[in-house]
Amino acid sequence: MSNRLNVAPNDLSAFWMPFTANRQFKQAPRMLASAKDMHYTTTDGRKILDGTAGLWCVNAGHCRPKITEAIAHQAGELDYAPAFQMGHPIVFELANRLVDVAPEGMDHVFFTNSGSESVETALKIALAYQRVKGEGSRTRLIGRERGYHGVNFGGISVGGIVTNRKMFGTLLTGVDHMPHTHLPGKNAFTKGEPEHGAELADELERIVTLHDASTIAAVIVEPVAGSTGVLIPPKGYLKKLREICTKHGILLIFDEVITGFGRLGTPFAADYFDVIPDIITTAKGVSNGVIPMGAVFVKKEIHDAFMTGPEHMIEFFHGYTYSGNPIACAAALATLDTYKEEGLLTRGAELSSYWADALHSLKDAPNVIDIRNIGLVGAIELQPIAGQPTKRAFSAFVKAFEKGCLIRTTGDIIALSPPLIIEKSQIDELVDCVRTVLNEVE
Ligand code: PMP
Repeated sequence: MSNRLNVAPNDLSAFWMPFTANRQFKQAPRMLASAKDMHYTTTDGRKILDGTAGLWCVNAGHCRPKITEAIAHQAGELDYAPAFQMGHPIVFELANRLVDVAPEGMDHVFFTNSGSESVETALKIALAYQRVKGEGSRTRLIGRERGYHGVNFGGISVGGIVTNRKMFGTLLTGVDHMPHTHLPGKNAFTKGEPEHGAELADELERIVTLHDASTIAAVIVEPVAGSTGVLIPPKGYLKKLREICTKHGILLIFDEVITGFGRLGTPFAADYFDVIPDIITTAKGVSNGVIPMGAVFVKKEIHDAFMTGPEHMIEFFHGYTYSGNPIACAAALATLDTYKEEGLLTRGAELSSYWADALHSLKDAPNVIDIRNIGLVGAIELQPIAGQPTKRAFSAFVKAFEKGCLIRTTGDIIALSPPLIIEKSQIDELVDCVRTVLNEVE
């Protein structure tokens, strides 16, 4: 391994880090040098158990030889191909393979490079679809409070996180939000789907009554809201949303950037909840997080509606220089092979009850006010410290890293979503680490 990897630079000023308290970080940086399977290694040689699959993306674990070899091979074979008016074989192969694992009816794929781009693409497909089928008055988009849909303008507009919105002035107009489904008073410490709250889907009817269905293009939700603390939909909620959307001709978009590719123990959350949306956004797990890639799945009728104009015309004026990049495609194909060979898209189902019991064993740890879990993802919510929200969870994160575990925090919530290759003993290790730090933080 080269020195460049192992030696932390002493000047950290030039890099403006994303979603990071830069000034604080640069006083006490956390630096990763290498990774293998379930672990990172820091620049000072410490092994860190990855309890978050990087950022909810490294579903097959780190530096898997099949994937790294596929990338190296492709880089020497066809490094880049223009994405527009040109093709290359593996992008078509990948699209077919993805459609094969996607929920029933999701027959076409549009490639992007990130979750944020997948969201923008999905919103634009929804708006353009309404237009091409002669319903151009359908321009409104409906999101949800506490929804995270990436950081581009469409995404922060339909998203429901104040910190991501308030610095940027005007957002997309014509956006409404449904309430989130987190009901701590009623559903605290539920394993899996909570009992209470399906009626919150009726808020969509209220918005339809307010604006009229003829003005609404699409509803976008994360089936399980990840970034704002693993909020699991109440039993029946997503089915109700589906029914209301169908009744009013509104497209339903599932943002499966986190839930796609096995996180819930099924290939997609749509499979888990048995609710098929019209469009699915993905990224992260599609390429095991190794090379930036996103994929938007659409139903046949949506795709076909665009294919009815004159043959020489571009059907959808949208795309990215790196859409279907050959190296990203090679990474994604090797990722899909790995998922298949190791049964990873359903491994979460085998481990989910062990995972649930392990997480809920933290119930009596100090300051724990809720625990949530589904598939191989979960959250531990802590009592906020008055006047200092986020402090307790963040110091748990810092301490856990010192002790050799990577966890994630969002507000007062600790989120866990390990690679799907995790062993039971490693689940125990992760949960023990969280227990230890909860006993140590204020
Ligand atoms: N949608 C969801 C549901 C996400 O969780 C994320 C990222 N955490 C995004 C979109 C944005 O993805 P990216 O950071 O790749 O742009």
